[in-house]
Amino acid sequence: MGKTYIFGHKNPDTDTITSSLVMANFEQKLGNTEAVACRLGNPNKETEYVLNYLGIEAPKLIESVEDGANVILVDHNSPKESIDNLENVNILKVVDHHKLALETSYPLFYRAEAVGCTETVMYKLYRENGIEIDKKIATLMLSAIISDTLLLKSPTCTNEDVKAVKELAEIAGINYEEYGLEMLKAGTDLSSFSIDEILHLDAKAIDFKNVKAVVNQVNTADISDVMKMKVDLEARMNEIINEEGLDLFMLLITDIINSNSQVIALGKSASLVEKSYGVKLEDNTALLKGVVSRKKQVVPIMTENA
Ligand code: MN
Ligand code: MN
Repeated sequence: MGKTYIFGHKNPDTDTITSSLVMANFEQKLGNTEAVACRLGNPNKETEYVLNYLGIEAPKLIESVEDGANVILVDHNSPKESIDNLENVNILKVVDHHKLALETSYPLFYRAEAVGCTETVMYKLYRENGIEIDKKIATLMLSAIISDTLLLKSPTCTNEDVKAVKELAEIAGINYEEYGLEMLKAGTDLSSFSIDEILHLDAKAIDFKNVKAVVNQVNTADISDVMKMKVDLEARMNEIINEEGLDLFMLLITDIINSNSQVIALGKSASLVEKSYGVKLEDNTALLKGVVSRKKQVVPIMTENA
């Protein structure tokens, strides 16, 4: 059958990286010996913490795949977040937890569920297929679920995610609360990043109806640490707005301990943030109480108010 390239979205997060590794393992167990875990960008610090904890290598870095190649998409299905020639490859499978954004001219295995993490779906696939989950796979899955659900506190977290984490922690022999907090904190270390890197860490291009926006989310254990860089962040955000012709650039600085986000909003549609959350931007910023999920608490609310 030839190689099968497995990858998650650009700007990879822990779910995207671990899901490509786990999916490659799953495919190999099913007999697809040429399944290769790949990635479309560098692991972030949180993901590095997980890989170092397990002493394993990141998936293979690729920029593109040849036309006609077999691929499996994990943790995304939107062509915007994928390889550029997605329409010219053969998508064998998708395992995901995002809204449907893909159209193909051929049938494929498509499994998406409204759960907090792709790895929760992977966990179910292992169970359904009677495939054993070893300690390493359990730790990868567990790490991603903790990451995507912010230690089971995000509104995207479902009972299935909680159940999976508890069972996986048992298999991995990990105290998931302690491990999870260390992992999340490792991801909040911004010391080695330039302003530009911070603004691209977890940036997604999203259209709220006609409002062309970028929403970038940065996790922190202390909002004031990031706000110290506000002047420099805003200067670069304004440049990106001009370069990319954006109507809105939202930087969400998410406090992973207290589950709030400070937003910095720039661009001619910045008032959409005020309208959507009933807040007043002062000096381009406001606290969005209880907002931690871009997928559930930003995209639908901003779209509805746009
Ligand atoms: Mn992801
Ligand atoms: Mn995910």
